[in-house]
Amino acid sequence: MSVRKNCSACCVCRPNSLLNLINDLLDVAKIESHELVLELHALNIADIVSEVGSIMSVRAAEKNLMLNIKCAARTELNIMGDAVRLQQIITNLVSNAVKFTDEGFVNILVKAEALPGAGRQVVIDVVDSGIGMSHAQTERIFDKFIQADPSISRRFGGTGLGLAITKQLTELMGGTLAVSSREGLGSRFTVTLPVENAAHDDLPPEIEPIAAPRTDARGHILLAEDYEGNIIVAQAMLEEQGYDVIVARTGKAAVEAFRAGGFDLVLMDVQMPEMDGYEATRLIREGEASGPGGHIPIIGVTANALVGDREKCLAAGMDDYMSKPFNPAQLEHLIGKYMPALKA
Ligand code: ADP
Repeated sequence: MSVRKNCSACCVCRPNSLLNLINDLLDVAKIESHELVLELHALNIADIVSEVGSIMSVRAAEKNLMLNIKCAARTELNIMGDAVRLQQIITNLVSNAVKFTDEGFVNILVKAEALPGAGRQVVIDVVDSGIGMSHAQTERIFDKFIQADPSISRRFGGTGLGLAITKQLTELMGGTLAVSSREGLGSRFTVTLPVENAAHDDLPPEIEPIAAPRTDARGHILLAEDYEGNIIVAQAMLEEQGYDVIVARTGKAAVEAFRAGGFDLVLMDVQMPEMDGYEATRLIREGEASGPGGHIPIIGVTANALVGDREKCLAAGMDDYMSKPFNPAQLEHLIGKYMPALKA
């Protein structure tokens, strides 16, 4: 048998990968033959995320990555679910995020949302600043044995089964798994699960959180931006700094989201389809003038620092502006200038 030189990926050189492959194949067989039955118990998702964070923190630290966890208040995360399979879903996503990121961060964000009517859903985002993928690649990665490109197996190992299993498990729970990614910028995997509340008495005792999940946001920011790559970067920076972020992809969507209320600050890209950021700002300011709420800071974001940008932003009703690309410190400084009263 010939063994490839410098191979770090094949089953001969890494016996564990053979074990992983067998486990993955067994999972696929079980799911596809409908033999996998979920075992529902009262659980708290923050505990599961904390456990995954604890396991993955070693590998993340070895790579010098920041592994951040931010969860909604514990009381919102008491649900009926299959703890083992939920942990498998989150572990797959976080371990991929760590594997495909060489610099920066991996963020795990968990929030609970009310659905129209009586239901609720939990949204788990795993965001990284890693190698990312093209749009075409993201369309294939949930298929079995598929990796983003042929070099992945040589560089990172893996079976190409993890995401297929993760998606199938999520769907078995009635949920969805989505991805948005940009090559060289990072990826965001989002699990959305409809959930049923667990009665408090049924819950296991709280486990000690390893990475102190944040239970509240520093403030609510409306991010108006149309370019997916910028959204991934800006949203991740803001969430890492502790802000809750809602994204609007056109000026019109930004005005509508703003009217729904609840924002402490708006980051407004000036160039967007349908309606640009200047016009959106004018409409927001008109609405504020005739409404009961106070003045909410709007920071314009421009593609290049051109002479006259600042004046144009201020004339439209913005409070300030910054040009892309910006770094986390610049963002934090400018937001702090306009939201000084918010929690640090
Ligand atoms: P494996 O990790 O075993 O290769 P998966 O099914 O978990 O298989 O993932 C399929 C492919 O999707 C990976 O090989 C990789 O190309 C891509 N991928 C998954 N997660 C990420 C991520 N966070 N960043 C970049 N690429 C990713």
